[in-house]
Amino acid sequence: MAGSMPPLRIGQGWDTHRLVAGRPLILAGVQVPSEVGLSGHSDADVLFHAVTDAVLGALALGDIGMHFPDTAAEWKDAGSLQFLQHALDLAAQRGYALANVDATILLEKPKLKEFRTAIRQNLSRAVGLPLDCVSVKFKTGEKVGPVGEGLSCEAQAAVLMAASVE
Ligand SMILES: [Zn+2]
Repeated sequence: MAGSMPPLRIGQGWDTHRLVAGRPLILAGVQVPSEVGLSGHSDADVLFHAVTDAVLGALALGDIGMHFPDTAAEWKDAGSLQFLQHALDLAAQRGYALANVDATILLEKPKLKEFRTAIRQNLSRAVGLPLDCVSVKFKTGEKVGPVGEGLSCEAQAAVLMAASVE
């Protein structure tokens, strides 16, 4: 299947959502208690979105907005886990599987430290990788910029995709 394809491909993704009252704060499917949550048409899971874009990017398949437009009935009310799984399916169809993921969440508050294990476990289940291949790091915005002022939450992800050997 791999043929002339490179054995490894790298991808990176970035996403941002506004923080607003009356919305849940969901990161890799984990609902984190917070006075504000992420605004968006889906569940606005900024971490799943960044990882989805990284997987799509590794295979040069465009971006999340291309594959899952908010105008498409097919994806109406779809959870972000479905976006990620669809991107992984597209990669698998091309002979690639995720090897590892390294992600960063940028959020001023609440502090996410105590949710690290739950977020990593959920992401690891979502992508079908052991926990030691799934890294999630946390940063604040140092009180400057939209993250630092508590207006938004961002996520960045880097992935390595490996051609499956058959
Ligand atoms: Zn998003």
